[in-house]
Amino acid sequence: MSYDIKQYKQGDIIFHGGDSSDCAYIIEQGQVEIFVASNDTIIDILNEGELFGEMGVLDQSPRSTSARALTPLTLIEVKTQQITNRLSESDPIVKALVGVLLKRFRSMLPSQSRGRDNSLLDQVASVIEQTGLSKFKLESELRGAINKGEVQTVFQPISDIKSQKITGFEALSRWTHPTRGFISPVEFIALAEETDLIIEVGDLVFTRAIELLSKLPEHVFININVSSKQLDDDDFLNRVVAKTKDHGVNPERLKLEITETMVVDFKLAKKWLNKCRAIGFPVCADDFGTGHSGMEQLLELDFDVLKVDQVFIRNMFKNQRYQTILQSIANMAHALKTKLVAEGIESEDEYRVLKNLGFDFGQGYFFGKPMSEECALKLDF
Ligand code: C2E
Ligand code: CA
Ligand code: CA
Repeated sequence: MSYDIKQYKQGDIIFHGGDSSDCAYIIEQGQVEIFVASNDTIIDILNEGELFGEMGVLDQSPRSTSARALTPLTLIEVKTQQITNRLSESDPIVKALVGVLLKRFRSMLPSQSRGRDNSLLDQVASVIEQTGLSKFKLESELRGAINKGEVQTVFQPISDIKSQKITGFEALSRWTHPTRGFISPVEFIALAEETDLIIEVGDLVFTRAIELLSKLPEHVFININVSSKQLDDDDFLNRVVAKTKDHGVNPERLKLEITETMVVDFKLAKKWLNKCRAIGFPVCADDFGTGHSGMEQLLELDFDVLKVDQVFIRNMFKNQRYQTILQSIANMAHALKTKLVAEGIESEDEYRVLKNLGFDFGQGYFFGKPMSEECALKLDF
């Protein structure tokens, strides 16, 4: 899937009625006239930020109207697949609603009555704009940023809890949007996970992590967050393995972090674990203790590392029960011979408690904030 930016001169035809509908458009700059060619009736004039040409894409029918550049024009093309993939994955009721609305919309067109006071049409337009448009735009921009390598990777230290020496890092993605500024990875990773973009983000993160590992001492590891699409994609995993070989990096130095929310099906999760083991990647249960299936996960899945969620560390002095649970997680991990990491350690006091509980590793601002590759290379190991 890709997106293109297209330029038009004033008066250029963007599509004719009867043409096949292979994409929708977002107006980046300029104005567009929607008209019926047979009698040259103007139906609508659209401005910057508006979406058009989406109807034919949604129901795969030819264009029912024509579109012309009213001014010099820049358009972002949203490909049919980007829309239909979303629609096919959406709730059946949403699909049915879109279908009904489209039918009604089309039945109104012959009378060329797309008036501004038509509440149904306004509702359709506002739903598309509010929910879909800003997301499509952001998705296109994220795709551009990935292609240009503008999605950065930073590395946060993970330290041995006893010696406080840095023994590893977690790789985290960063994206600074040209106008919106810093966008949290929680937001753009979720967007990337809805599409195949997460594979491309993964290619960037793994490439950079492997390159960094090749320059660091042999005992240093890097943890990488992975999503289900990456673990299901054998081509992706093969590419990662080939990269480790190219750089002479032992795969055991790359630990894959899987969150509890990804584990909805234990059979599938076991398959992932086996796949990773066969390659040599250790697997870490991330955000451990926050989901519903923590105990069941421990019974069913043989993780190499448990990373206890930050919420336990943040609350350990506010509510004694958090420390009690931390103690029992530590006991279980020791009995199961699973390594234990605490994340989000910010203070010396938190650090001391976790050290006394027998945690193996710690991560958090107390040890270090996420940093660039250059800074990571300057550290002592
Ligand atoms: P996470 O995997 O739980 O990552 C830890 C988050 O906690 C990071 O947030 C990190 O910056 C933050 N953190 C670390 N130490 C401290 C601390 O002492 N105090 C506080 N308050 N926060 C701390 P970040 O970088 O914003 O990442 C958020 C989430 O986005 C990550 O949560 C991870 O789930 C996801 N993510 C980030 N990069 C990637 C990526 O490349 N791929 C995937 N699949 N997910 C990613
Ligand atoms: Ca993580
Ligand atoms: Ca985490």
